[in-house]
Amino acid sequence: MRDARVWTLAVFFLFAAHAVSQTTPAPDAHLVVLKAERMLDVKAQKIVSNPVVIIEGGKIKQVGAGLAIPAGARVIDLGNATLLPGLIDAHTHLLQNYDFALGGDDNNMVLTVSQMSPAERALLGAKMGREDLEAGITTVRDVGNSGLNGDVALRRAINRGWVSGPRIVASTRALSAAGGQFGTLQHDAQELVKQEYVEIATVDDARRAVQRAFYDGADCIKVIVNTGPRVVSLDEMKAIVEEAHRVHKKVAAHAIGDDATRIAAEAGVDSIEHAYIVPDDVLKTMASKKIFLVPTDYPEASYTDFIPQSATPEERKQMEDEMKGFAKGNSDRLKRAMAAGVRIAAGSDEYYQMGKRTRGESSTLIYEAYRDSGMTPWQIIQAATLNDAELLGWQDRIGSIEAGKLADIVATSGDPSQEITELEKVKFVMKGGEIVRDDFGH
Ligand SMILES: [Zn+2]
Repeated sequence: MRDARVWTLAVFFLFAAHAVSQTTPAPDAHLVVLKAERMLDVKAQKIVSNPVVIIEGGKIKQVGAGLAIPAGARVIDLGNATLLPGLIDAHTHLLQNYDFALGGDDNNMVLTVSQMSPAERALLGAKMGREDLEAGITTVRDVGNSGLNGDVALRRAINRGWVSGPRIVASTRALSAAGGQFGTLQHDAQELVKQEYVEIATVDDARRAVQRAFYDGADCIKVIVNTGPRVVSLDEMKAIVEEAHRVHKKVAAHAIGDDATRIAAEAGVDSIEHAYIVPDDVLKTMASKKIFLVPTDYPEASYTDFIPQSATPEERKQMEDEMKGFAKGNSDRLKRAMAAGVRIAAGSDEYYQMGKRTRGESSTLIYEAYRDSGMTPWQIIQAATLNDAELLGWQDRIGSIEAGKLADIVATSGDPSQEITELEKVKFVMKGGEIVRDDFGH
């Protein structure tokens, strides 16, 4: 009885397969073709009309204007959309999401580190990562504040397909002088610091910390060069850079102010993060050593929008003035950096819940700040694609739509090379050939 049913089924499928082969060739599941009206060639800063991107096995096989569509390929025609490479964010903290109502970084850090396990933070990171990916950010460099290697756990979960998120370049715990970036902690509470930072006080500590980070699964090294008067020394920084570069890994340095940025630049790090205050001689060194500036800047309104409701009119006025001054200062230093020939890599440093915005929606606001500081749309797009890819050491994998690279491609309705805010409204996201978001409805 059972045998008879198997035979009947086998015969049925034989005929069914035959019938299909008579009409259309079986679709080649490996080939996907993306079509649109425009594509941004980010290297040449040119628009390609009627682009055809042929994708196989998650990688770009061929790309060009009006290419012939291979037989049997699955064709996704995005109509009058613009294709561009997936966005990259070179400065994320996916495993923390602070709350303004708790009163600033110091309070939030104590609560996050003392109350949330690395497992819980990795799950938070899964949400933040998905929100980034859905906004078109297909790769991030996550620079610390992930507890004990929670970023590595999240990276592995994403790579294994357990959760949906961007590609992650992880740094594990940031290296720092005593206390990390914590505010005041009483003696017994200072044990918390090592859950979030690796404190170094000697050159030997520095070398050990770098080696330990790689053992823990880091892809790059993050150093907090200064927090208030606590500063990592030039000798320690040099040892960190030497240890990392010896094994072809990059170093990201959080540095603010004349001395800390100078230490980072002299040590030869790969990027200086923030540098809200940085002197001209350091900008010159950065330009000559090809050190990227990652300006984690936001437009003025995104600072003033989040003044607490509880503030008195006087407090509000004072905070507004401070924040406007901060935004203006950042804008001036970005202009000075560009004038000095420093290359810019885009990074958000977003780690607060900004109203109802998703993490991706708030992170992409940085492009407006870059625009307000005089960067052209093409310069901004390059900072968020090509430059970030190079800073991550992944220029052979991501950052442009070229044959051989991963099929990380996003699309917008309008043309971001004309109007940069289009990047806040990405409507189609593909990561490694898989469609993550499609508001065009395919
Ligand atoms: Zn940061």
